[in-house]
Amino acid sequence: MNAYNITLIPGDGIGPEVTEATRRVLEATGVTFHWELAYAGAAAQDRFGTPTPDDLFESIRKNKVALKGPVTTPIGSGFRSVNVALRKELDLYACLRPCKIYPGAPTRFKDVNIVVVRENTEDLYSGIEFEKGKPETKRLLELVSETTGEVVRADSGVSLKVISETCSRRIVRFALNYARAHQRKKVTAVHKANIMKFSDGLFLATAREVAKDYPDIEFEDVIVDALCMQLVRNPSRFDVLVLPNLYGDIISDLCAGLVGGLGVAPGANLGNDIAVFEPIHGSAPKYAGQNKVNPIAMMLSGVMMLRHLGETKTADRLERAIAEVIAEGKNVTYDLKLNVANAQVVGTSQVADAVIKKLEESSNTKPN
Ligand code: NAD
Repeated sequence: MNAYNITLIPGDGIGPEVTEATRRVLEATGVTFHWELAYAGAAAQDRFGTPTPDDLFESIRKNKVALKGPVTTPIGSGFRSVNVALRKELDLYACLRPCKIYPGAPTRFKDVNIVVVRENTEDLYSGIEFEKGKPETKRLLELVSETTGEVVRADSGVSLKVISETCSRRIVRFALNYARAHQRKKVTAVHKANIMKFSDGLFLATAREVAKDYPDIEFEDVIVDALCMQLVRNPSRFDVLVLPNLYGDIISDLCAGLVGGLGVAPGANLGNDIAVFEPIHGSAPKYAGQNKVNPIAMMLSGVMMLRHLGETKTADRLERAIAEVIAEGKNVTYDLKLNVANAQVVGTSQVADAVIKKLEESSNTKPN
């Protein structure tokens, strides 16, 4: 039987709790994991004086696969986002966020099954920013004025929206390849090219060109504000969405909301040879240490990791066990109690117990 070396990053806030619950269910599948613990964010800052220690990158580069809990990003000051640093440094250019309904999850809809493919390395998240009042900001504003005739207020801060043909091409190709490999029918490119002609316009033109190589996949494009309206009215009309970074971030939370909330929305950050699996949700600091939040988004990220490792049958078995726990509603966290009559609310670790019990029952009845 295969054994896998995986970098395990518990993160902070609720991260350590959902990570521990996920580690337990993954081990209960019978697959062998050698976990290499790595710290990021506040947890690393306390120990090593930096939120992104070299050991973190080294471990992920060596093992090629990581399972990561959420990490807090201080707002407006403090260290830059660890998540952005990881994605940029390791060139994890594709963020894959499947949003599908598990019966029993609290949703207004019946058949949503959308995969959000978010470009992960550029756009307004490129990290290139100019602070109000700094000499380099003044120089930039002078250059803008000289070259465009536009006068930008001197008391402005500036964040650059950078979209390249190279990164647009590879993310759209990734989405179309994903659609092909997973028997999906349609890819929708999302943009605001009517306003931002040289950034979103380039993304759209590139997407249209790449899509010509995939005549078997239906391709369409939609403006991001129209997409929001259509998603909340009729989400089942969408299949695979491909978006630049910022829209992808926002729309994946929206899609998570369509299928039952952040507690059930997994994700993966993928590069050419490195994969980091993590839920969409953040570190929800107000719930930290209370054994309260839903570990299922992180467990489903673990299911995605198993598929990535080629452990398809085990992934299916774990996903079924999780789906049964959601459908029964007897051992769910507070966020899932709405849709099942007589749902019983339990804590994070009890959800893991329930999933493990389902796994044990399935291995007794269906040998794998
Ligand atoms: P959040 O996702 O942490 O929490 C928002 C709300 O969603 C919570 O208050 C809670 O009500 C609900 N929620 C989130 N996860 C849940 C779960 N597993 N079960 C049940 N309910 C859940 O978003 P936020 O409050 O905007 O961000 C908190 C911190 O997390 C910020 O510092 C942010 O930068 C960071 N963040 C990190 C990541 C990451 O590490 N990948 C992603 C998003 C946000």
